[in-house]
Amino acid sequence: MVRSPPSTPPETTAQVDRALQAAQKVCEQKGLRLTPLRTAVLRIIARSTRPLGAYALLVLLQDEVGRKHTPPTIYRALDFLLEIGSILRVESRNAYILRDRPGSPVLFLCDTCDSSVAVENPGLAELIESNAATLKFHIARPVIECSGTCDRCAEATADAAIRGHSDER
Ligand SMILES: [Zn+2]
Repeated sequence: MVRSPPSTPPETTAQVDRALQAAQKVCEQKGLRLTPLRTAVLRIIARSTRPLGAYALLVLLQDEVGRKHTPPTIYRALDFLLEIGSILRVESRNAYILRDRPGSPVLFLCDTCDSSVAVENPGLAELIESNAATLKFHIARPVIECSGTCDRCAEATADAAIRGHSDER
C-alpha cells in the first residue's frame, strides 16, 4: 500500500533540504556516496521533532521507500550519517537526531512528549575541554544530555492540575 506522506510544514522542508545539501557536500569532499537509503534515513531524521530509535526508523523508512529493510542495514546507514556528522546519537534514548550545526550541543530531552532541543554552548564546551586537559583525558564524544519536562508539557500538567483541583469542589 502506498501512503501519501503527511503534509510537512515549510520550515521543516527547508531544514530537510539544508541537511541533505550539507551531507551531500561532506560526501563530495570526502569522496563518499550518499546512497538513496542513506538519503532517506537522513530525510526522516531531519523531519522528526523527536529522537528516533532504529526500530522507529525502520517503520518510517518502509513508509518512505515502500520497502522493508533489516536492522543491520539501518545501523550501517546510521553509522555512515554519524561518521559524516549529519546526525547525533542521543545516548540516553538510544536514538538519533539531526545535527544541524557543528560542535557538540547540549541536549534537552522531554520525558513526557519525547521532544528534543539542541543548544550550542561554546562556554560549556570550553569548560569541559579545560577539565579534560587538566585530567589529561582524551574526549572521544562529549555528551551532555538533560532530561526533564519541556515548557509545553509543564504547562499542560499545570492546567490539568488546576482542572483537577476545581473538579473536586
Ligand atoms: Zn514535552
